[in-house]
Amino acid sequence: MRNRRQFLRGALTGAGGALVSGGMAATVQAVELAEEQRYGQPVDVLICGGGPAGMAAGVMAARQGAKVLLVERYGRLGGMAVQALVGPLMGGADCPFVDEVLNRIGGRHPDPNRMDLEYAAMLEEAGASIMLHAWAMGAVVEDGCVKGIRLLTKQGALRISAKVTIDATGDGDVACLAGAEFEKGRPADKLMQPASIMYLVGGVDSDEAILCGSEEEAHQVRTPAGSWHEVVAKAQSTGELPPEIGVVRLYRGHRSTERIVNATQINRVDGTQVADLTRGEIEARRQAYGVLDFLRKHGPGYENAHIAMMPAILGIRETRRIRGVDYLTREDVITGRKRPDVVVRSASFVIDIHNPTGPGQAENFATRTQPYDIPYGCLVPRSLDGLLTAGRCISGSHDAHASYRVQCIALAIGAAAGTAAALAAERGQQPRQLDVSHIQNALGFNS
Ligand SMILES: Cc1cc2nc3c(=O)[nH]c(=O)nc-3n(C[C@H](O)[C@H](O)[C@H](O)COP(=O)(O)OP(=O)(O)OC[C@H]3O[C@@H](n4cnc5c(N)ncnc54)[C@H](O)[C@@H]3O)c2cc1C
Repeated sequence: MRNRRQFLRGALTGAGGALVSGGMAATVQAVELAEEQRYGQPVDVLICGGGPAGMAAGVMAARQGAKVLLVERYGRLGGMAVQALVGPLMGGADCPFVDEVLNRIGGRHPDPNRMDLEYAAMLEEAGASIMLHAWAMGAVVEDGCVKGIRLLTKQGALRISAKVTIDATGDGDVACLAGAEFEKGRPADKLMQPASIMYLVGGVDSDEAILCGSEEEAHQVRTPAGSWHEVVAKAQSTGELPPEIGVVRLYRGHRSTERIVNATQINRVDGTQVADLTRGEIEARRQAYGVLDFLRKHGPGYENAHIAMMPAILGIRETRRIRGVDYLTREDVITGRKRPDVVVRSASFVIDIHNPTGPGQAENFATRTQPYDIPYGCLVPRSLDGLLTAGRCISGSHDAHASYRVQCIALAIGAAAGTAAALAAERGQQPRQLDVSHIQNALGFNS
């Protein structure tokens, strides 16, 4: 069925960290699209974003018996791990679904060439439908309730209706387009974590090639020329490496002759701003070749390394955090706070804040945490019905986000969101009306 001309609200330039209402304080561009078509029949649960959170939400909602459609803007599922070659899968949670996914994809160091196909298979086996190459450009909102998504596709603008929509875009695009309140950046200056191009090098000596997981480890890893930290610092001081590269992290790859390089760093990139994304893409890829030259010269075991795979897109660590009815704090994750309305149990990962203004970490080293709970209210937007958030865009502070953003926690958040959305759709309730004990039962917490 064809509707009258639709005017879609474009991306919002948030006021950089302040609590921003999607429709109010930001610059809103009206984007006129061609006539919009209603696509297919309404679904129970519509998920936007095919990263770990979206995939987990899709599988778990479909396993609850919901009619599920997952839409993704690019041609492959997997989110940052596949599109930006981010890995290994870090963090953890007391969530059987996370273990199931790790088993399925071959552990924490999966082959990024196949990971998207495993995610697709898991969705298909659960009975969920997938739509790729469909970019959410608007939300259908009636009386404060999200009723579906507007998508830009090669066949024009499509509108899909749903009982419950899950925003798993990482950037909180759907919630923002629907007018949700959000935060960006750290409180003092609203800056977000830097962006990076991670890439795969091949041809390394599988026995000799050093590994370095963090700033802390860089001081411990030995080379003939001193600690890895000293080698990097010297190259930085002579201009061989740019000033913002203070640590060259080298992770194990899927094959023994491969390493994942996490070193490039572009500060002051807002991943929701196209000019920043353009600058970041080009500068970070230039940096990647500079780091390769440095590795071949100074990295034991990297003398014959080459770039085996460059990612499709720039890696974005942090953008919008959608304000929910609850809010996870730094204190919560450091003290391992337990919550009666928990939907992700025992999330575990350090507070890992890459310095938004200079090299290395914002706090010298990553801060240790205790296994903490994520309450349901962090997934429920404060002012909108019909919508849940999942993954790195849930409600929490800049510091807490720096812990819960990793993939294994995103998977567990997605599993909770999908389960809750299916229950809400089945019962004809709004997500905020659900009794959390029903979600916990469906997640197997009490069995
Ligand atoms: C450089 C870098 C290094 C990192 N290192 C690690 C690491 O070593 N280990 C680890 O576990 N984590 C790491 N992370 C963090 C982790 O990758 C992400 O935080 C995690 O993938 C978040 O999962 P998500 O599902 O919320 O979002 P994403 O993985 O970003 O997935 C979101 C999906 O939504 C899609 N999407 C976005 N907008 C739209 C739209 N408007 N319409 C339709 N689809 C849309 C995207 O294409 C994407 O597929 C790193 C991140 C970066 C950037």
